[in-house]
Amino acid sequence: MQTLDHFAAEKLHALEAQQLRRTLSETARTDGGWMERNGRRLLSFSCNDYLNLSQHQAVCEAAIAALRQYGAGAGASRLVTGNHPLYAGLERRLATLKQTDDACVFGSGYLANIGIIPTLMGKGDLLLLDELAHACIWAGARMSDGDVVTFRHNDTAHLAELLTEKRGSYRNTLIATEGVFSMDGDCAPLPQLAELAEDHHAWLMTDDAHGIGVLGNGRGSSFAYDKPVPVALQMGTLSKAIGSYGGYLCASQPVIDLMRTRARSFIYSTGLPPASIAASSAALDVIEQTPALTALPLAKARRFTRLLALDEAQSPIVPLILGEAEAALNASRRLETEGFLVTAIRPPTVPTGTARLRFTFCAQHPDAEIDRLAAIIRNRILPA
Ligand SMILES: *Cc1c(COP(=O)(O)O)cnc(C)c1O
Repeated sequence: MQTLDHFAAEKLHALEAQQLRRTLSETARTDGGWMERNGRRLLSFSCNDYLNLSQHQAVCEAAIAALRQYGAGAGASRLVTGNHPLYAGLERRLATLKQTDDACVFGSGYLANIGIIPTLMGKGDLLLLDELAHACIWAGARMSDGDVVTFRHNDTAHLAELLTEKRGSYRNTLIATEGVFSMDGDCAPLPQLAELAEDHHAWLMTDDAHGIGVLGNGRGSSFAYDKPVPVALQMGTLSKAIGSYGGYLCASQPVIDLMRTRARSFIYSTGLPPASIAASSAALDVIEQTPALTALPLAKARRFTRLLALDEAQSPIVPLILGEAEAALNASRRLETEGFLVTAIRPPTVPTGTARLRFTFCAQHPDAEIDRLAAIIRNRILPA
């Protein structure tokens, strides 16, 4: 038998040998995407605060007021005494934004997915997941006891094949995908997915962690098309463009009522701090009042893809795939010496051989800095 410490040290050693050991770097965010790391001021292109709302004055003031009035923590789960009055306003705003009956707020996006999916799916059910779906969709799917099958990324023909072949052998079927893919920045073909879901009596769920606030006038990926796409389960996070913390599901009344009574991550986890709820509500008000703000991150991303002649950005996320983990790490270090923070993304977050730099664009990124970044990438990072 190994000692515990020996076991852990050996695992770390093996990860290090593959350049896969992850480390934390202290990063103090200051303002408008700037941050300090190792005593240096850097402009971050690795932050999901797309609208810079985490530092917006009205958002921060709402959080401070709630903190002063109600204290730092919720004190209990929502079903016990943690259902703060501020939740009702936030859930109403989310349901209005997404045009659904109701919404249910969870502790985080991760907690939402591991709560929602097992509440709906069980033994004898089929879960069809896009192969690039986020780790927490996988976690929720595995916890459900249903059969999990993947379809090739954004490949609706493959999904149709699987539905035709398998749908009949199962009771209920869920199709789950990301509205905007977190590591690739491309969008799911939602109109086609909704059609397939309808034709095969399946339920469609989107994880819109990177769509809310930045696509469809801030309403998210289902609103980025000519007409709203019917997505029965619209899940997302309050921790990215909304600038606060928490997760949500927007859906019909019976579905939301079921979540509130059965989702384990809702029942057995403490409610959000009141300040986080107040901040989210204030951020949604900003989004509603200034739709022009929501268009900025995509416009900045498109400026960048134009400068480098990359495929036009579909979202504020732009990947630059470099291959091996080491190449991505070296490129990231190079950009840091130039004053830019761009994190290298490596396996297992992305498939082997597709290590990359992942750029995220925010409303307040100065155009001149985007231009300088693109020039450095063209001259120093991309092979001639
Ligand atoms: C970030 C992210 C989550 C998790 O949301 P948190 O609120 O950070 O827990 C879920 N799904 C996707 C696609 C994400 O990018």
